[in-house]
Amino acid sequence: MSFFLERSELRDIYQKVVAGERISDADALRLFQSKDLNAVGAIADFARQRKCGNNASYIINRYINYSNYCILSCQFCAFARKKRDADGFQYSIEEIAEMARQALHLGITELHIVGGLHPSLPFSYYTGMLRALKTVDSRLQLKCFTAIEILHLAWLAKKSVRETLTELRDAGLDSLTGGGAEIFRPEVRSAIAKGKESAEEYLDVHRTWHKLGGRSTCTMLFGHVESLADRVDHLRQLRALQDETHGFSGFVPLPYQPENNQIPVKTAPTGFDSLRTIAVSRIYLDNFDHITAYWVGLGLKLAQVALSYGADDLHGTIIEEKIFHMAGAASPQLQTETAMIKAIREAGRVPVQRNTFYEPIRTIADPEPGKPEPPTSRSKVLDDNLATA
Ligand code: SF4
Repeated sequence: MSFFLERSELRDIYQKVVAGERISDADALRLFQSKDLNAVGAIADFARQRKCGNNASYIINRYINYSNYCILSCQFCAFARKKRDADGFQYSIEEIAEMARQALHLGITELHIVGGLHPSLPFSYYTGMLRALKTVDSRLQLKCFTAIEILHLAWLAKKSVRETLTELRDAGLDSLTGGGAEIFRPEVRSAIAKGKESAEEYLDVHRTWHKLGGRSTCTMLFGHVESLADRVDHLRQLRALQDETHGFSGFVPLPYQPENNQIPVKTAPTGFDSLRTIAVSRIYLDNFDHITAYWVGLGLKLAQVALSYGADDLHGTIIEEKIFHMAGAASPQLQTETAMIKAIREAGRVPVQRNTFYEPIRTIADPEPGKPEPPTSRSKVLDDNLATA
């Protein structure tokens, strides 16, 4: 045990983690309350290293928002618009397919697609979109829709959640996204996202998808009006569902963005809070393989540091992120593969390009000393990537 952990107030939690014991909710709260960020980070780094070794991953993907029209008005949301708003938008299936075609040249292996709860698009629009995208390239992995979109589509189609998911899967859906979890405690939920699905509904959509053989990610929006105990409660419910289904491929903590919304919290979480939340997530979620540092919310610099605080993944190139940026995120709208590889290497990890399910596609070898990074042949990368995806 390192000298500073031996003297740390968190020594007993570190010993549990080393012994492979699960930490309790009270332990997680102590970790959140500790001011000894380095000790919390060191415990998380130990847990990460044991699970993921020296690799850190990223994905080459493109985000597409098919529409920002939404029948809800979640208080924290800066993305949604009503039909009367001048800056509302919706894309046709052909426009979305064209965006996918163009992104193929960048070497993407995944399309990540979400939108608002559209007031009038029929269910056939969503199945048609999935089929059209698989026609663009059948090997593209389609990670689409939040749990609340699935409930909305089920309501539209007048089908059960199970039937809805089955039809979407048959049309080409590969993975659900993790969005919409926010914070599960009902009091917080109604303060930031009144009218949204309950925690039970969110978890039940993912449970149903997992039982159909699907995988998904999950999230937690932190740093607004919730308490630290609320975060532990949220993680507890995710850990319990993962025990039941083992269907979550990764966890993505999302730092709250404060602009253009109705929540009376006008600062984003600090770097300290963000690193601490990522670290506690890694330690507490002992049944999750992957914890993502979401650079869109953190900035790439802090996401890079998070690789030493429990995270093993930097998420993706993204290309056109709208939801966080409309809420004030200061990060760029895309990240280059080169920047992510550099960030990972500098943090002492081996960069690994992954697919939607966090499975490795290729390990990026170090450039020869004194020589620049070899240029990437996009078409070859795409062939290689999609052949193994
Ligand atoms: S968070 Fe989602 S459901 Fe809520 S208003 Fe925004 S787009 Fe609609």
